[in-house]
Amino acid sequence: MVKAVFPGSFDPPTYGHLNIIERGARLFDSLEVVIAVNSLKEGLLPPEEKKRLVENEVKRMGLGTVTVTIHEGLVVEYCQKIGASVLLRGVRTSGDYDYELELSILNKQLSKDVETVMLPTEPRYLVLRSSTIKELLSLGGDISEMVPQEVEESLRQHYSK
Ligand code: ADP
Repeated sequence: MVKAVFPGSFDPPTYGHLNIIERGARLFDSLEVVIAVNSLKEGLLPPEEKKRLVENEVKRMGLGTVTVTIHEGLVVEYCQKIGASVLLRGVRTSGDYDYELELSILNKQLSKDVETVMLPTEPRYLVLRSSTIKELLSLGGDISEMVPQEVEESLRQHYSK
C-alpha cells in the first residue's frame, strides 16, 4: 500500500495541479493533497478556502482515494506521521527541475524513508503558474482556461477585498 503526499501552496489551485492530482491518484493507493501554510508568506486565498476548492474539484473528478489537509511545518515530518512514503511533485521547466532536485535532496536528508517522485507536466499546462495567474487577474486578463470556474470566482472575491 503506497501512500503519497502532494504538497504545495496552491495559491490558487490550477488545472496544472489538478492534472498532477489525477495522475497521482492513478499511481498510488492513496494521495493526500497538503495545503502548506507558511507563516512568512501569506497567500491571497486563506488555507481553508484552498482546501474547500481542491476538495470540490477532487469530488468533481470522482477521485475517491484523494484527501486534502492543511499543514504548517515540515512536509517530510507530516509524511512520517501519516506513513506516506512518497512526496509527489510536478515539474514544468528545467528551472522547476533544478529547484525540485535541490528540495528532494534536502528532504531526503531530513527523512530517508520518503522518496520524491516528480511528474513532468502535460504540454497544455506548461505555462500555468499560480503567481502568473494572480498577476493576470490583477491586470484584467482572462484566466478561465487556467483555473476551474469556482477557483476564479473565489480569486475575484479575495482580490477585490
Ligand atoms: P510551491 O510548492 O513552489 O509553492 P505550488 O504550490 O504552486 O508550488 O505547486 C505545488 C507543486 O505543483 C509543485 O511541485 C509545482 O511544481 C507543481 N505544479 C504547479 N503548477 C504546475 C503545472 N502547471 N504543471 C505541473 N505541476 C505543477
